[in-house]
Amino acid sequence: MAKNIGYDDTPMLPDSKWHVHDGKRPQPRVVTPGTCSTQETPGKAPSDAVVLFDGKDTSKWVGKDGGPVQWKVENGYMEVTRTGNIQTKEHFGDCQLHIEWAAPAEVKGESQGRGNSGVFLIGKYEIQVLDGYDNITYADGITASVYGEYPPLVNACRKPGEWQTYDIVFEAPLYEDDKLVKPAYATVFHNGVVVHNRVELLGPTGHRNLPNYDTPHGPEGPLMLQDHGDPVRYRNIWIRPLKGYDE
Ligand code: MG
Repeated sequence: MAKNIGYDDTPMLPDSKWHVHDGKRPQPRVVTPGTCSTQETPGKAPSDAVVLFDGKDTSKWVGKDGGPVQWKVENGYMEVTRTGNIQTKEHFGDCQLHIEWAAPAEVKGESQGRGNSGVFLIGKYEIQVLDGYDNITYADGITASVYGEYPPLVNACRKPGEWQTYDIVFEAPLYEDDKLVKPAYATVFHNGVVVHNRVELLGPTGHRNLPNYDTPHGPEGPLMLQDHGDPVRYRNIWIRPLKGYDE
């Protein structure tokens, strides 16, 4: 390691074993950043991401009752086929998730019946997928809502048929001895626009019920994608499990 890169005669940082500008503090791991997607071409994941779906391979997922995924896979995307939700085999907790989706180009239905799907963090907390372009529904169920809890700060929808992105930072809730000690939090960017700024979730999301944390669950779970009967497409899905600073 290079010498004299920092200081050891500076004040200690609070709740830390490091001085301000401490030369011995561990260096951050090096990650090669990914690239952005265009409508035509999905981008690349950062070098340390777990690629969950690359446009062809669904081997990291299971369908109904743990069987193989029956969604249609073609042309670099997978599409909901009324065969049930799918979820990852691997479980994740705190994470950064990137996922791209497109509502059907041919508009059918209205309100919740138009391009409905959903991204469920740890299998329980839904960020709504919906064709919310020029489509009115209840605010806490529109595109990018935390379903039944928070409308997005703004509606940043692209037109039906166009690829859209969610970038989500999720903090799983924490229970100790079946008692909630930390709720879940979510930060969400929709097409690069912040739509949730570390909102405190009220509990697992649901339909027509008041969410709560009464039922303890573990800090990890599968990433689940909802089959709501509409042929929504997904591509370029990657996740980075998050932990704190090294040391
Ligand atoms: Mg949904």
